[in-house]
Amino acid sequence: MGVSVSMLASGSRGNSAVVQTSKTKILVDAGISCRETFKRMRVLGEDPRTLSAILVTHEHADHISGLFVLAKKLRIPVFLTGATHQTWSRTMRDENGVRPQLERLEVFCPGRSFQVGDIAVTPFTIPHDAADPVGFTFRAEGVKIGFATDLGYIPASVRDHLRGCEVLVMESNHDLEMLRVGPYPWSVKQRVMSRVGHLSNDALAEFFTNGYDGEAAYVVLAHLSEANNHPELARGAAMKALGPRQTLLRNRVMLASQTEPLEPIRL
Ligand SMILES: [Zn+2]
Ligand SMILES: [Zn+2]
Repeated sequence: MGVSVSMLASGSRGNSAVVQTSKTKILVDAGISCRETFKRMRVLGEDPRTLSAILVTHEHADHISGLFVLAKKLRIPVFLTGATHQTWSRTMRDENGVRPQLERLEVFCPGRSFQVGDIAVTPFTIPHDAADPVGFTFRAEGVKIGFATDLGYIPASVRDHLRGCEVLVMESNHDLEMLRVGPYPWSVKQRVMSRVGHLSNDALAEFFTNGYDGEAAYVVLAHLSEANNHPELARGAAMKALGPRQTLLRNRVMLASQTEPLEPIRL
């Protein structure tokens, strides 16, 4: 069956994706409700009860808001860093004011790989204003997949991790001009633009031009801002930067959506 990537939801109202082999099914982030996660998986013909594990990149609500209910319902291991878990659980209370416990908590350290079934996972540190935010690469059946969303810029260490990926899921958060003139208060604009904020279309284009090995079969543009970006601006910037490296087999550009799941990418 090979390896596949399904983007269930992407954007500031919730992020979630599935990376799977025939043996292992990983939910990457739990930023939409349990009900919506199940619904979107079923739309793609997937049974959510067959998920093997949940991995979380960081504790912002758009990546974690569905976690507790999903973990409780599915009783599968939840992987996050110690600091992400601490920060998240500090804010969590059940109806009795008690901190709810994750039944099967697995703590990982950025930079240290671990195995989930037949998928090797490498979490790596990304610059973002959360407790201990990470991106991931996944390796299975000779294929490597990279996820890097929610990052203010792309440091050399992240570029290194993203080398040799067959699928690259990259943040293309905002168009700088739209953000500048857009509706956000100045303090929020500054946060988004900062070194620990979000990646602009231009910053991603710069990566494609100067820091990217050109190896991916698919490039998925993710975490697009609804207020400060337009899908065609994001696509245009990426396609211009990828230029002639786009062929029938390489660098096909896809856009992940907030409102509906993307057809699975099969490798
Ligand atoms: Zn975030
Ligand atoms: Zn986010």
